Amino acid sequence: MIRLQQYEKGQAPERVVIACSDARVHCSDNPFLKRKDEFGGAFVIRTAGQLLDEAGWESLRYAVQNLPSVKEVIVMGHNRCGAVKAYEKRINGLPFFLTYIGENIRYARALGLDQVPYPEGFTEFEALNALGQAAAVAERVRTWREDVIVTAGLYDLRDGTYYPLLHFLPRRQ
Ligand SMILES: [Zn+2]
Repeated sequence: MIRLQQYEKGQAPERVVIACSDARVHCSDNPFLKRKDEFGGAFVIRTAGQLLDEAGWESLRYAVQNLPSVKEVIVMGHNRCGAVKAYEKRINGLPFFLTYIGENIRYARALGLDQVPYPEGFTEFEALNALGQAAAVAERVRTWREDVIVTAGLYDLRDGTYYPLLHFLPRRQ
């Protein structure tokens, strides 16, 4: 019934989740949806390494500007991330990963986000990639809406736990 109502009314997600494409990461049914019938709770943008190219940024802008139900944008990294590993090992032939992940890590360090604690079982690069991406997302989101929280988080493949690392709060609060 809820599914039919939502289908007819259109989507009204509470959050946007920017997550890695890794098949082991669940971002629309767990851990964000408390009940099984919470269909439509997340607007999801997925790319390897949760990086944003032009299409990703435009998808985010669409959701933030046109879906007033959105209250939070989560940039969610995870452990054993192949994209971050490709960056660490400087794997050739993947310039997109090398450039974008490098930018996120440098940006996070420039903002002092390398001081933010992260759980065991994750690498520093996995945390910094999520933190730097979330900081860049927060800057753009603030130009579109004043009332949206942006959160950098990590998803643990081992048990499905989601760890929020840092909230970038809206200006007016
Ligand atoms: Zn990944």
